[in-house]
Amino acid sequence: MESWDLIIIGAGAAGLAAGIYGVRSGLKTLVLEEEIAGGTTADAPLVENYLGFDSVNGLELSQKMVAHAKKQGVQINEFEKVTSLDLKGEKKIVKTERATYQTRAIVIASGSNYRQLGVPGEKEFRGRGVSYCGLCDGPLFKGKRLVVVGGGNSALITALYLAHLALEIKVVHRRDVFRAEEALVRDLKNTKNAEIFWGTEVKEIRGENVVKSVLLLDKRTEQTRELPIDGVFVQVGEAPNSQMAKEAGVSMNDNDYVIVDAVQHTNIAGVYAAGDVSTYPVKQIGTAVGQGITAALEAYDFIRRPYYKR
Ligand code: NAP
Repeated sequence: MESWDLIIIGAGAAGLAAGIYGVRSGLKTLVLEEEIAGGTTADAPLVENYLGFDSVNGLELSQKMVAHAKKQGVQINEFEKVTSLDLKGEKKIVKTERATYQTRAIVIASGSNYRQLGVPGEKEFRGRGVSYCGLCDGPLFKGKRLVVVGGGNSALITALYLAHLALEIKVVHRRDVFRAEEALVRDLKNTKNAEIFWGTEVKEIRGENVVKSVLLLDKRTEQTRELPIDGVFVQVGEAPNSQMAKEAGVSMNDNDYVIVDAVQHTNIAGVYAAGDVSTYPVKQIGTAVGQGITAALEAYDFIRRPYYKR
């Protein structure tokens, strides 16, 4: 069984930052990633609030992060899904589809997945007009009529990005106030080909082979109407990837985010969480990086007990 000091689960912003700090602290560090390294940063059409980058494409930023981590000597095993964790002993056991590892500390940085609307047609037309990633799929909808569902930062950033490509954008939000940043709300309101449907829910996504329309319910008037469109971008938040940690005894809050203290400790000694999977209330690339750094340094402290922490 391969033995490591620190295993990090997830190669997004939090996991990669933890990896760099783990390696630079002298810990034998492995990052396990079930998909391609880079995390959900890669899905952001444009990032304009990460310090040092006034405007950068998310994919480009994520690739820079991965390249930086690799250059520092972080071993990243891509397409290696963790299948179970045993966190009971001093040596923690991490099983993947390929191998079993033992490690002294773990950082859970497994991020979150796109939340679904759960309406008829959503599953059926996924990849045929229903998308969860503006950057990935936006270019397929040049000159088309699109709906973006949601009222947070993701929905508005996606709508603003798509507005440059599409003929028209309808932002469908279930309440009459956005939770997105004011700057985004202002930009959206100033976008000529974008319209906001307040207090409106998508009840069904309809089509024949590809999406043709959405059924909308205006909650204020209780009127339903069918809106012809070519694509639906669902941007209604995320669900944390925490099931395996939960099964291994890591404490979660009611929404299954991993409970962490101010320095990323979970309820189990030597197990930390960082980034979108944790209860830390701000979900930003910058905060994920900070949490990853803190988690790795706390792991170092746990393993080596350096003099400056005594
Ligand atoms: P979010 O902030 O949780 O917003 C989700 C939105 O979807 C809310 O407006 C919510 O409506 C709506 N919603 C949730 N479930 C729904 C349903 N079943 N049907 C219809 N609407 C539904 O999620 P997010 O926008 O993905 O952002 C997640 C986190 O990442 C946030 O902390 C955000 O600030 C951060 N983020 C930051 C940036 C950036 O600054 N560059 C970019 C993207 C995301 P209600 O408002 O009614 O609850």
